Amino acid sequence: MLDLKDLYQEVIIDHSKRPRHFGKLADSNREAEGFNPLCGDRLTVKLIVEDGLVKNVAFEGVGCAISTASASMMTDMVIGKTEAEARALFQQFQELVTRKEPPTAAELTTLDKLAALTGVRAFPSRVKCATLAWHTLAAALDQRHEAVKTE
Ligand code: ZN
Repeated sequence: MLDLKDLYQEVIIDHSKRPRHFGKLADSNREAEGFNPLCGDRLTVKLIVEDGLVKNVAFEGVGCAISTASASMMTDMVIGKTEAEARALFQQFQELVTRKEPPTAAELTTLDKLAALTGVRAFPSRVKCATLAWHTLAAALDQRHEAVKTE
């Protein structure tokens, strides 16, 4: 029988091998670069934001399986959300992978497919891989111009 851990593993492998919304985005009006020196993950996130709504997102770059899977899930999850909702999701994810207490069942439900990445909690260096795309998203939304670094 497939347990939850195996299922999470499969979701991560699927997103890292076939990342969604990977590539160029024509007409983007927000973008940021992110770099995680600890692992070498590097990515660019581009967005089309109109009237406070994230209309489209794409990312490019090279990174480990965790950072690629996380970026892929991020793009899937924030399209159609308001800027505020996208930021709230980032904050919630960030909190759940950095706090001591494990996520509750209700929290995992809210995270949807991102729940697959909460296993990184046990590995602090991997937390940076898992949150890089989200930090970069936040920088793009804020229109910050320096590249985001996790160190
Ligand atoms: Zn990494």
